[in-house]
Amino acid sequence: MDFATKTIHAGQPSEPHTGAVVPPIFQTTTYQQEGPGEHRGFDYTRTNNPTRERLEGVLAELEGGTQAAVFGSGLAAEHAVLLAYLKPGDEIIVPGDVYGGTFRMLHKVFEPLGCVIRQVDFADPNQITDALSPATKLVWLESPTNPRLLVYDIAEISRRAHAGGALVVVDNTFATPFFQRPFELGADLIVHSVTKYLAGHSDLVQGAVIGRDHEVFAPVKFLQNALGGIPSPFDCWLTLRGLRTLELRMLRHAENAIAVAEALSLHPRVRKVYFPGLTDHPGHEIARTQMTGFGGMVSFELDGTLKEASELVSSLRYFALGESLGGVRSLVCLPCKMTHASIPAETRHALGLSDTLIRLSPGCESAKDRVKDLTSGLDRLGAKSEIAEAAVAGS
Ligand code: PLP
Repeated sequence: MDFATKTIHAGQPSEPHTGAVVPPIFQTTTYQQEGPGEHRGFDYTRTNNPTRERLEGVLAELEGGTQAAVFGSGLAAEHAVLLAYLKPGDEIIVPGDVYGGTFRMLHKVFEPLGCVIRQVDFADPNQITDALSPATKLVWLESPTNPRLLVYDIAEISRRAHAGGALVVVDNTFATPFFQRPFELGADLIVHSVTKYLAGHSDLVQGAVIGRDHEVFAPVKFLQNALGGIPSPFDCWLTLRGLRTLELRMLRHAENAIAVAEALSLHPRVRKVYFPGLTDHPGHEIARTQMTGFGGMVSFELDGTLKEASELVSSLRYFALGESLGGVRSLVCLPCKMTHASIPAETRHALGLSDTLIRLSPGCESAKDRVKDLTSGLDRLGAKSEIAEAAVAGS
């Protein structure tokens, strides 16, 4: 089956009793048993639910894995993986550019428990080799990253990590399996904030872990039930519905991202555009080989002040100012005040996350309207004032 066919058909036959083409939501807590302990594979919805099971089957198919476990949020999914593989004294290697919530969980939850977080530059895989030790259990990365859209060589990183005996976890939220298939590049586990492109409509929060090897995946599946961070059957049903248009949406998101990135590159108030599809992006060549498209996200640095960046993101008509991304409606975010505010300012600046970095999630509206919205907003800021210039120079 091709990708689009899988999103609609994989594990989703019509309902056998009525012929309903959309399988119903199994909105139930428990299941009547034939005799004590005799049931048809379902005994309690925290442990298993037919709607959730169907979604897990589709996600595993789309990523080319064998099993999946869905959770009540992307962070709950990440938590299960970290808890499954890290105990006090164990080490994890991550790049500087990770989602702020992942950074917070590592430093505020796992570090105090005695786990060691090694942060290196994944653009230079030698740094990963140097950081590996017998205590390294996981090498964790996003690609493209949030919010600077850096691209890392997943195949090379996986080779290095495996040589040191560590497992590789790839957060595939930004690329989605439509544009990137981490298992084919060597990943052992894939995590997703399903909240974003997979569900696609900004109407639920959900996460997933996908595995390809039963032994590697089993501890995560165990924790799904043992920790209990599951999503509701209704949210699973909504994700199944969203997934049916994943290919269509991703094609549109990507087309719109290119239009937005090109327009921003030409604007005098834009200092830098981060989009892997631009030939001057440092990860462009890797993206061309490991992805089948450049994704739908675009970030840029305003040539101005934090005040101007705040004004701009608050003044747009079609980009709603809000956290999150990947929905059909365009969103804009100022990471330093929003998604990445939990990272201390000095750390953020050292990682190259400036205070005027703006992250865009172009939705599925017309590209023309969005480009006009953005360029008009930038035009309204006017030419860069000397006062602003002095403020930047002094900052
Ligand atoms: N991973 C990435 C790349 C994200 O952008 C996010 C959220 O923004 C998460 C994980 C966490 O997902 P959730 O918000 O569904 O918990």
